[in-house]
Amino acid sequence: MSPQDLTPEFKVAVRVGAELFYRSAQVKKYLDRLGPGESNQHRLLVKSFQLALEDVETASISSFEALADITPEDPSWNQAIETLHDNLRIFSRSFIDIHELLALLPRESIRPEVLFALEGCFPEFFEHQPPVVLGSIVNAFEFDFIDILKDRLPDIGAIFPEDKRIYVLQLAICDADSPHACAILCHELGHAMDVRHKISVWAVEEFMSRFGVDESLRPILLYWCRELCADLIASRVAGPVPILTILSIEYCIYPQYSIGMHSETHPSTLARLQVIEQDMDCSDDLSGFRAEIEFYKNARRLNLERICTDPNIRKETENNHRVLTELLIKQMATLVCERLSSLDLPDLKVPCRRFDQASLDRCVERLRRGTPVSSQGESPESLEEKVKQYRKRVFKSQEERIEAFKNLCDEFAEKPLEVAKILLSGYNYKLEVMNSLYEAERPLGNKESVTSFCDSLATLDLLIGSSIVTTRVHKEMLRRLEKDQST
Ligand SMILES: [Zn+2]
Repeated sequence: MSPQDLTPEFKVAVRVGAELFYRSAQVKKYLDRLGPGESNQHRLLVKSFQLALEDVETASISSFEALADITPEDPSWNQAIETLHDNLRIFSRSFIDIHELLALLPRESIRPEVLFALEGCFPEFFEHQPPVVLGSIVNAFEFDFIDILKDRLPDIGAIFPEDKRIYVLQLAICDADSPHACAILCHELGHAMDVRHKISVWAVEEFMSRFGVDESLRPILLYWCRELCADLIASRVAGPVPILTILSIEYCIYPQYSIGMHSETHPSTLARLQVIEQDMDCSDDLSGFRAEIEFYKNARRLNLERICTDPNIRKETENNHRVLTELLIKQMATLVCERLSSLDLPDLKVPCRRFDQASLDRCVERLRRGTPVSSQGESPESLEEKVKQYRKRVFKSQEERIEAFKNLCDEFAEKPLEVAKILLSGYNYKLEVMNSLYEAERPLGNKESVTSFCDSLATLDLLIGSSIVTTRVHKEMLRRLEKDQST
């Protein structure tokens, strides 16, 4: 099958497979690092986890391979797609279960770049240094440790002052080495910020009184509004990557569940993406983000068609989804934004809501060449122009010439890049690597191509991780330099 023959269903399957293979590779690496333990006590467990992952991977690889030799016109196509879907479902379920069993093994600590990334996105809020831990559930969480303590152990909990909070962030083990995946913690920290400033509580109260909503709906509105609030905070401090990481996890469970609709606790992912898209004002930049939304719409449609075969019921379901999104979710999001503006929180003033596409493209080009993206100066074209202007100038004195030359040199300085931009350029490159699978002769159809794909993403993780660390060091050096100069 040639790349142009890839059907939308096959493309989505490749995407789901890619997300699962990569996370599975990450877990195997994690197990390699843990090793057998000092007294060999973990050897059997580590080996069993690795064998189990290899087993589910092999079945999916062979179903991808089976599709590589036929076309959609072939009578065996539909059956081969069904087999692939079944194997991806087994892969997805097994991966989630195996991951949960990792709780049996010792836990690594979080990598420094995760903390630097959070600090870069939440300079003010992160001063409280929330503990960040790895967890065995394939998702991220945020909780108040004191709340849990007071709930379970009232006597011990009472030793903490009434207003004491310890926000704990939890990241899935499979995402520990991937800085883009860690961006999901910005959403979790958004929840903590919401609790502290009572943003969603206010927005729901306002929504209910403005629109005369029945009291019985308050709990579900509150659940939904909390998610919207955490999404909006995360996108304002870190751009679209936090919501894209949520999408990336969703592809891992895609073969198992119906993914398209609002649930009791969360608005649908599509509605959340649309809220962020609207808030970010993605006019002429963020083309990668918009392409991801379009791809997801397609994946969601296919998921619905698979789960509900009656077109009339589907139409009605879609209609309900649209009405709820437009009349309720987007309205609540507007109120959240209103509240965020009135609170004037320092973290939300970091100017990352507009991304210069040309600057992002230069970062992606660097990543393609295998170099980090910790800092960026002006574009070569703009610098060339400035040199030309300098040469054309006529100076009245030698002092004026020296001053102008100093200013020209300053223009060449590279400035530390904002974490949000590092994350987004990394995510854009990740998408480029994923999209290249569609051009492959046998997408994910043999072990070598799966390994090479996972290795490319692992290299990218290292580049993004080192970029985040370097930009932190760069900022600190500039801060010290400025301090020295002012004293
Ligand atoms: Zn959440």
